[in-house]
Amino acid sequence: MEPKDQIGLRRANLAHVLEVLRVHGPHSRAGIARLTGLNKATSSSLVAELTDRGLVRLGSPATGQFGRPGHLVELRPGTVCGIGLEVNVDYAAVAVLDVAGTLVRHRRVARDLVALGPDGAVDLLGELASAEIAALRADDAWVAGVSVAVPGLIDVSAGVVRLAPNLGWREVPLAARLAERIGLVPGVDNDANHSALAEHAAGVAAGTPDLLYLTGEVGVGGGVISGGSLLRGATGFTGEVGHMPLDPAGERCGCGRIGCWETSVGLAALLRGVAGDDDPVRDPALDLEQRLTLIAGRARAGDARTLAALHRIGSALGVGASILVNVLNPAVVVLGGYFAVLGRWLLGPAREELCARVLAPGPAGCELVLSDLGFTAAVRGGAHAALDAVLTDPTTAPSRSATAVRQAPEQHRSTS
Ligand SMILES: [Zn+2]
Repeated sequence: MEPKDQIGLRRANLAHVLEVLRVHGPHSRAGIARLTGLNKATSSSLVAELTDRGLVRLGSPATGQFGRPGHLVELRPGTVCGIGLEVNVDYAAVAVLDVAGTLVRHRRVARDLVALGPDGAVDLLGELASAEIAALRADDAWVAGVSVAVPGLIDVSAGVVRLAPNLGWREVPLAARLAERIGLVPGVDNDANHSALAEHAAGVAAGTPDLLYLTGEVGVGGGVISGGSLLRGATGFTGEVGHMPLDPAGERCGCGRIGCWETSVGLAALLRGVAGDDDPVRDPALDLEQRLTLIAGRARAGDARTLAALHRIGSALGVGASILVNVLNPAVVVLGGYFAVLGRWLLGPAREELCARVLAPGPAGCELVLSDLGFTAAVRGGAHAALDAVLTDPTTAPSRSATAVRQAPEQHRSTS
C-alpha cells in the first residue's frame, strides 16, 4: 500500500471509531474493536491517537466479565468545539458545542439587524465569535471551526449571502468579511439547513433519514434531510418554502411578492394577528422569548383575539405543510422557532389541514412534531457543521502532547 493510502486509511479508521462512540456511546477498546471490525491492537492505537488529539478520554471502569477490567472510552467533553453563529431579523446568537454533543454555551442578543445592516452585523457576529474563541482558548480547548446561519439564499462554496430578503441583504461576502475579524474562515449556510442538521443530529426526531424542518421566524424556511443527507438542489437554494405563493390576494412579503406563505404564518403575521401596534409583544427591543411568553399567557387565559390568530396560523401552517408533504414525503415535519413555543395551539388546526389535503391516507404516515431545540436549532446546527470537518478527519485536531511540548518553555518562563 502507498504511504498516501495508509494515511487515508488511518484517517478513515479514526473517524470510524469516533462515529461508533457517537452512535453507540462509551465502549471498551475491545468493544470498539468488535463494532469497527478492526483488531484490538489497531483499535487501541486509534484510541491512543484520538486521546492525544483531545477527542476521546478514558471514562468509568468497564464491567467486563472476563479478565482485568479496562476503562470505557468516551467522547471527551469540552476540548474540541465547534461554534455556531446565527443572524436573524431581530437577534443574533452564538452557541458552542463539543464533540460529545454538549452545549457548552449559548447566547442570544436582541438587536434590530435590519437597521444594523451587513457592516453592523459583521461587527456583532465578530464580537460574539471572538469572545467564544478567546474563552475556549483560555480553557485550553481547540476550535474546530465556525459556521454562520443566515435566513436567505447562500452560496455555500463562496461563503456569500446572495439574497436575504428579510434582512435586506444582497451579495454580502459574509465568510470573507467575518474571517477578517475572527482570524478563521467561517462556513455560511441557510438557517433552515443548519436547523435541520441540528434536528437530525440531536433533536426530537434525531436520526430520522427523511425529515423536514420548518423555521418559525420572521421568514419561514425549510431544511430538508432526504435519505439521511441535506437536500441542496442545483444551486443550493432548496427549501425557500416561505415564498410558496399561496394567497394571490394576500399581504406583501419581505421578498416584494404578494401572498407568500410566510406572510400568513411568519412571526410578523403572528405578532400582527395577536396584538395592536402599541402592545409590548410588538416591541422589537423586548426579547422574542419574553414576547412569546406573553402571547402564550394570553392564550392560556382564553383571550379571544390571541386564540383566533393562533387557530388561523395553525390552519395556514397545515395548508402549506400539506404541499411539502405531498412533494417530499418526509417521515417527520419538525416545527421550530416560534411554531414550537406556541405549538400547543397550532398543532390541532395544522394536523386537521394536513390530513385533509395530503393525498396519501392520513398525513402520509408523516408526524408533525415540535422541536425541543427552540431558538437554538440554527446555532447548534452551525456548531455541528463546524465540527463535521474534525469528525470526518480527526487528524485536523492538533496533537495535545505536541502542543504541550511546544508550549512547555513558555509555561516555565511565566511561572518562574
Ligand atoms: Zn416572499
